[in-house]
Amino acid sequence: MDRETFRLFGHKCIDWLADYWEEIEKYPVRSQVKAGEVKGKLPSEPPEEAEPMENIFNDFQDVILPGITHWQHPGWFAYFPANASPPSVLAEVLTAGLGAQCMMWLTSPAATELEEVVLEWLRGMIGLPEGWAGVIQDTASTATLCALLTARERATSFDSNQRGLIKPLAVYASREAHSSVEKGVKIAGLGRDALRYISTDEDFALVPGELERELERDRREGVRPACVIATTGTTSSTACDPLEPIGRICNTYGVWLHVDAAFAGTAALLPEKRHLLHGVEHADSFVFNPHKWMLTNFDCSAYFVKDSSLLTRTFEIHPEYLKTGLDAQVKNFRDWGIQLGRRFRALKLWFVIRSYGVEGIRKMLREHLRLAGVFQQLLQSDPGFEILAPVNLTVICFRMKREGMDEDELERLNSNLLERVNASGKAFLTHTKLQGRYCMRLAIGQANTTERHIRTVWDLLQDESAHV
Ligand SMILES: *Cc1c(COP(=O)(O)O)cnc(C)c1O
Repeated sequence: MDRETFRLFGHKCIDWLADYWEEIEKYPVRSQVKAGEVKGKLPSEPPEEAEPMENIFNDFQDVILPGITHWQHPGWFAYFPANASPPSVLAEVLTAGLGAQCMMWLTSPAATELEEVVLEWLRGMIGLPEGWAGVIQDTASTATLCALLTARERATSFDSNQRGLIKPLAVYASREAHSSVEKGVKIAGLGRDALRYISTDEDFALVPGELERELERDRREGVRPACVIATTGTTSSTACDPLEPIGRICNTYGVWLHVDAAFAGTAALLPEKRHLLHGVEHADSFVFNPHKWMLTNFDCSAYFVKDSSLLTRTFEIHPEYLKTGLDAQVKNFRDWGIQLGRRFRALKLWFVIRSYGVEGIRKMLREHLRLAGVFQQLLQSDPGFEILAPVNLTVICFRMKREGMDEDELERLNSNLLERVNASGKAFLTHTKLQGRYCMRLAIGQANTTERHIRTVWDLLQDESAHV
């Protein structure tokens, strides 16, 4: 591609995106293609000859776009949000164009130093203790894996890096913990059986007494407890495990405490929500995702550790071809995580934080919290619906109820209702189960969601509930 074509289509792509965001509500939130439909429109062989950009761009619109689920639609209430924002996207364009591979300081000093500075900003923004160091990971799943590996090494005095795991270790998390915990335990070589699921209370938060009982039992049986993973804002219902008592127990038993605040961590930007992280100073590591609720497009997870030397000792490598004369003076983030190569992700965080200001981000969060209150009130005003979990932030777990129905019938009723709402294209919600009870789950957090969208989804629920 020559420079002029690049310029032309560069402008065209940005114009297209600006229009897309402007008119996004004309698209159905959840893609309506059938399985195999997109593949059916794509050639099975790559082109031998160069194709004009015009054709490629047209096919993007005609073939690809219908198969896109519109995460930036204000009717997005599924899973958690994954917000993009104009400043974030502009930074991504620059990151891609610079094409810098930022594995270590020398391969782009600005990438390393900006990452240090922006993560230090973030640390202060959410009120983590001073002295903790931050690094960007691709996802919370990777950060949690890093925590498990570091915990494994600390528990074995760095012997498992050398000889592999000789004696069994154990990991503890609540039944509501994210699936990435189980995945991480398996990848870390601890074995699925090493994972102890701790029961939760009526608010779906981990019961510290149960944790202590399990730790004690393992210790008696000669199993070394390695890591506890507490969740601030579980995926199903944003339940928050009590960090203060959990932290004290972990300190007593000398167990690594990792806090997974993938979604809810952003809420700690609000002084009135800081209490969610009460006790976090007892933890050893912490992750939250600016790529969920902080206007920074996927992927960008902020991982913080109390003692970075344990992290680097777990991951560091010193092949001759990567040695530089500066290694003692600078950070080489390749030693702070799993992969060697690293994208320049700090740039988009820097653009976002400067472009909105911390107060601008807070304003969005407060509006989302207000909207959650509005939806909650609508539900409470209708005896045909019930709320199944405390609304700690902006996720509401609810269902339609009908006299005399058992759990299976309620599940069928509510999954039908959910499908009808989603098929409308105006909103997209997902579901979960809480202590065996099926419920719909409305997660507010898309940057452009307003009260109008909350009322639209409520009207849809009401209208469709007459047809199930
Ligand atoms: C979303 C989520 C994750 C996984 O996030 P990724 O960044 O996609 O790996 C982990 N934990 C919790 C609590 C989550 O909500």
